[in-house]
Amino acid sequence: MENYLLYINGEFRESEDKQTFDAVNPANGEVIAKISSATVKDADAAVDAARKAFDSGVWSNLPGEERSRIIKQIVDKINENAKKLTELEVLDSGSTIRKAGEDVFLSAKSLNFFSKMASVDLNEDIAGLSKEGVSKNILRREPLGVCALITPWNFPLKMAIWKLGPALAAGNTVVLKPAMETSVTACELARIISETDMPKGVVNIITGPGSIIGTELVKNPKVDKVGFTGSTEVGKIIMRNAADNLKKITLECGGKSANIVLDDADMEMSVDGAIYAGFYHQGQCCEGGTRLLVHEKIYDEFTKKLKEKIEKMTIGDPMDKKTEVGPIINEKQFNIIMDYIKTGKEEGAEILTGGNKVGDKGYFIEPTVFVNCNNKMKISQEEIFGPVVVLIKFKDEDEAVEIANDSIYGLGGAVWSGSDERALKIAKRLRTGTVWINEYHLLSDRAPFGGYKQSGIGREFGMDGLKEYTETKHIHIDEIKDRTKKFWYGTVVPKD
Ligand code: NAP
Ligand code: MG
Repeated sequence: MENYLLYINGEFRESEDKQTFDAVNPANGEVIAKISSATVKDADAAVDAARKAFDSGVWSNLPGEERSRIIKQIVDKINENAKKLTELEVLDSGSTIRKAGEDVFLSAKSLNFFSKMASVDLNEDIAGLSKEGVSKNILRREPLGVCALITPWNFPLKMAIWKLGPALAAGNTVVLKPAMETSVTACELARIISETDMPKGVVNIITGPGSIIGTELVKNPKVDKVGFTGSTEVGKIIMRNAADNLKKITLECGGKSANIVLDDADMEMSVDGAIYAGFYHQGQCCEGGTRLLVHEKIYDEFTKKLKEKIEKMTIGDPMDKKTEVGPIINEKQFNIIMDYIKTGKEEGAEILTGGNKVGDKGYFIEPTVFVNCNNKMKISQEEIFGPVVVLIKFKDEDEAVEIANDSIYGLGGAVWSGSDERALKIAKRLRTGTVWINEYHLLSDRAPFGGYKQSGIGREFGMDGLKEYTETKHIHIDEIKDRTKKFWYGTVVPKD
């Protein structure tokens, strides 16, 4: 069995107290690897390595083209190891093999995008900002320094790459801490990076409990920025802990997104879309379309078709290429989801389909749809993070928008309609970071992704995502000599 170590300053080492934790396969409860559990001292050592590497300029002072070349080496190695990474992701996270395959492919693709961004010159010269228009003004985009990158368990490799890509492209050094539930592919990434020309200490990867080493990374004054994806609850803790030294933060947190189906939507496509939006990765997606809003005119036909299609879905071994629904990540999440299903029934919602545990090994739950719901119910307001969709009927577009926006979250959402123009009008009224039209989940490397309201702060992807990992510096060179003598007391004298 593989025994994964911490990766600090370009070396693999055991944790200081030699403790490990188990990587568990949620499909059958089997232990698949042992992983070093870092202590606070280990976390500090990783930060020190990243700090030293940053301050030495070994990465930030490289020409962008050289950083780009080294990041591209990681891309190539991810592609070379795609099969192994995919299988490990399935075993460690319960992701279906098709979703895991896509995750690995998209990880390499996104990192490739950021390898190219590394060589883009973001600096600008702006002439004439002074009163006389005779100054030179240079705007520089500089790296922030040391970035702590903390990721969740639902898209393990992909989330790590989404943060590593922009942080490294911009010239920062990093300490990555993946979720304990799914640390295996991050450990494989450490191995991959160790085989490239990446200078020592630029990327450090440590594994262990977020409540201990995550907290340390957030509080450590040598860290300049925290990039976090995870729950809104932990996001708030991070924001408080980062406040002491006013660290920069990017938070990608929870969601309860509305998937709106208008009366002129293509029936087959929108039913398939609703299933994809709500049940992709067993509903363990932050941007998932977990509130399904359906126009009253098509409600009966839509619910009938939805039920029929969901009941044909294949639930089972995530390693099997035919499987559409795999297990929930762990027993704790399984129990939380089953409790929400109970709550939904107690609140008066009815089950259209699903609601039950499947099998007696692993943590499988049937894709579940509640009907007779209203948006005030707990199951409509809280993020369940499992295969549970609430279906709410609406009478017109204003009501759909009102329901959609009645949420503490604002991450994703979609509108299904035969008219792009009609859908676009609604999309503009939704208080959310991403809206799909006749589509769901798809992201573009160039388009920013992130949340309104309690879904987060900041954006990932694209130029916005890259800029989140930079500071802006303005250098002013004045061409009027002896200017201070003339101007220091001000030049505009108010008329009497
Ligand atoms: P989580 O419990 O918030 O954990 C996320 C990460 O934070 C893990 O690495 C965790 O480490 C670490 N952590 C825990 N407590 C910490 C603390 N006090 N200080 C610093 N780090 C700490 O979230 P999760 O259960 O892994 O993931 C599910 C959540 O993520 C959902 O709410 C989902 O909506 C959200 N999510 C959001 C996005 C997005 O882009 N908006 C994407 C994916 C997921 P441990 O594993 O050791 O606890
Ligand atoms: Mg696992």
